[in-house]
Amino acid sequence: MSSVLGTYARKAISFTEGKGSYLFATNGDKYLDFVQGIATNVLGHCHEHLVKTIQEQSEKLWHVSNAFVIPEQERLAKRLTDNTFADFVCFQNSGTEATEASIKIARKYFHKIGKPEKNRILTFQGAFHGRTLAALFAANNPKHTEGFGPKVDGFDQVPFADEKALKKAINKNTAAIMVETIMGEGGIKVVPDFCIKGLRELCDERDILLILDEVQCAYRTGNFFAFEKSGINPDIVPIAKGIGGGFPLGACLVNKKVSVGMTPGTHGSTFGGNPLAMAVGNAVLDVIFKKGFLENVKEKGKYFDQGLNKIKDKYPKIIGEIRGIGLITGLRMLVDNVEFIKKLMDHKMLTIKAEENVIRLFPPLIVNNNELDEAIEKIEKVCKEMS
Ligand SMILES: *Cc1c(COP(=O)(O)O)cnc(C)c1O
Repeated sequence: MSSVLGTYARKAISFTEGKGSYLFATNGDKYLDFVQGIATNVLGHCHEHLVKTIQEQSEKLWHVSNAFVIPEQERLAKRLTDNTFADFVCFQNSGTEATEASIKIARKYFHKIGKPEKNRILTFQGAFHGRTLAALFAANNPKHTEGFGPKVDGFDQVPFADEKALKKAINKNTAAIMVETIMGEGGIKVVPDFCIKGLRELCDERDILLILDEVQCAYRTGNFFAFEKSGINPDIVPIAKGIGGGFPLGACLVNKKVSVGMTPGTHGSTFGGNPLAMAVGNAVLDVIFKKGFLENVKEKGKYFDQGLNKIKDKYPKIIGEIRGIGLITGLRMLVDNVEFIKKLMDHKMLTIKAEENVIRLFPPLIVNNNELDEAIEKIEKVCKEMS
């Protein structure tokens, strides 16, 4: 009997070591890991540069309060703003804190400019923005909210990609639209570029802020952010998962316009942005910003996609659709996704489910073609077994 509160249906398997794309179980079995802590270990397990960084930083300084200037934090914020739409960054420890910060910043902006009635956030049904109370009721997925009432007010949902419903839902109280650029838990549903552009136009027309939740998809598509290829700039972007390469780290990026409300004392975090976390965040960027790294992610994404498409063509009754961009991939299955995932585990490959009967594949961004081939082979084997 475990003393850990039973909030997960955990698989009876544990690991002692990880290296790159692989995990080693306590019994010595080697697994190809395409979960990577749910899109978190972007550089795979125990990346040399991250190991070295954490060793060195841990001998210098772990934690100081945000009451002091933290040089590593200044540096990471500068690198994030120099390379993106953002003018300012605030650091958190997780994705849900980053989305909560986004909500607070949006509301505070309108309060500051004398429009406090603009305080409601519109989201899409099927979205996921985290597990704290506001983030939970922002998405308002009954599977997650049941029993956790009273409902946190201030959020309205519209069906995914329903332009008419969205326009109808906007009123004088709407402060922001919050959308995942690629819906992760919802089943790797990519919001098309023209929709992202349309959202930006709509927000501009109606004096609304655009929040793009990139907690799951940032760094993975072959662009720094998934929305970049649509050519627009959002106002607020929460990120987390991948940005710490496996170390708990979240951030909220904002433009200058919406930053005006966030004056000293309006937000805070004891741990957020401490020297140890910032050293790791910077080390992840050292690798991501290497010349050609993201271009290479695009290439590998294409290679993987081609391989997966071949299997889909061969087994059209097993795989219904391949979703995603770069190295954030979803297979919409026509057979039970959970059973398929179990069989993949028998073949020593780890994947994770999502809504809409989807299997999510998160190779580390440092994956090589041999490892992608190995994944394709294993997936094909299970297709064969299940047909
Ligand atoms: C995972 C996720 C979150 C929540 O992140 P946590 O670190 O688990 O709190 C929020 N938004 C999206 C899109 C996510 O995928």
